[in-house]
Amino acid sequence: MKRRDLIQGLGLGAAAAATAACSRQAVETGTSDRSQRFQWKLITTWPPNFPGLGTGAVEFARRVEACSGGRLSIRVFGDGEFVPAFEVFDAVAKGTAEMGHGASYYWKGKIAAAPFFCAVPFGLTAQEMNAWLYHGGGVELWQEAYAPFGLLPMPCGNSGCQMGGWFRHEIHSVADLQGLKMRMPGLGGEVLARAGGTPVTLPGSEIFTALQTGAIDATEWVGPYNDLAFGLYKAAKFYYYPGWHEPGSTLEMIVNRQAFDSLPEDLQEIVRTSAAAINDRMLAEFTARNAEALQTLVSQHGVELRPYPADVLARLQELSLAVLEETAGRDALFARVLESLRAFRRRMDPYLAVAERAMLNTRAG
Ligand code: CA
Repeated sequence: MKRRDLIQGLGLGAAAAATAACSRQAVETGTSDRSQRFQWKLITTWPPNFPGLGTGAVEFARRVEACSGGRLSIRVFGDGEFVPAFEVFDAVAKGTAEMGHGASYYWKGKIAAAPFFCAVPFGLTAQEMNAWLYHGGGVELWQEAYAPFGLLPMPCGNSGCQMGGWFRHEIHSVADLQGLKMRMPGLGGEVLARAGGTPVTLPGSEIFTALQTGAIDATEWVGPYNDLAFGLYKAAKFYYYPGWHEPGSTLEMIVNRQAFDSLPEDLQEIVRTSAAAINDRMLAEFTARNAEALQTLVSQHGVELRPYPADVLARLQELSLAVLEETAGRDALFARVLESLRAFRRRMDPYLAVAERAMLNTRAG
């Protein structure tokens, strides 16, 4: 095949023509900012190209580049390729990279209220999170929380309800949590500590080895899709549910405010719209792939599924309320976000009880 045919076959000819048309239009209309090109770095807290999370960031970059006719091109970096996972927030705040993709609860040491924008124990499901963030004042509170750091946050992905985690030994009662060393970030980790466990925060890339060598006794990561990809079933046999600590985790896109303000308005809108598109797409991907992966884990790898005992969940819920109340007592913004979330949930519950919840409970076959 001749090179020209190959290029046309790949649709590259059309893209080049579209870019040329955009440039021509910019010259004709005299809008000089339309001819300006931007090259950004997007750093992530995920292993490079990790299914769902990392690939979501890559897909975001692809859409922005395609929609902008190449005027904003974004190079994506995985954990450790530019900075380590837990340095993403600082690097984007400083402007070393223009954007970062990760989970807000990783930054709870800097902003007490940060976990609310990802997940809090026994909090909102994915559907409820989106309702609160987009239509219940959640995004506005999130922007307020990140503004002092020169960062603009946007929802950009959701894992759906996570799994309770992988355990080397069965959990029969609250006593089995005593001394349990478990990877669990965010407020879930604080709750675990109050239940007698020892929470550990590790980036995804370090989990498997820690579990396999016995450096930790248990871990949560995401759900079947991602947990299968890490091979966690090779290091622990018991897989608990539900993910009480993360009922519907929202992922974040953080943008350096100065960099964002330097973009023409249409590129700003492309960034916002692409983040919103990935927010939906990722949840759909997780829902579909989690279902397949759970089947694989159980039928091919002999994983033993276990529900958390009811009294363990009741105790964890009690401790979660205590953690939320106490933190609200120390931090004014945390208290405001907690109240916003609770008020929204009070309004949503009566509706969801007669809608999704009633439907799922009655649906047959
Ligand atoms: Ca998790």
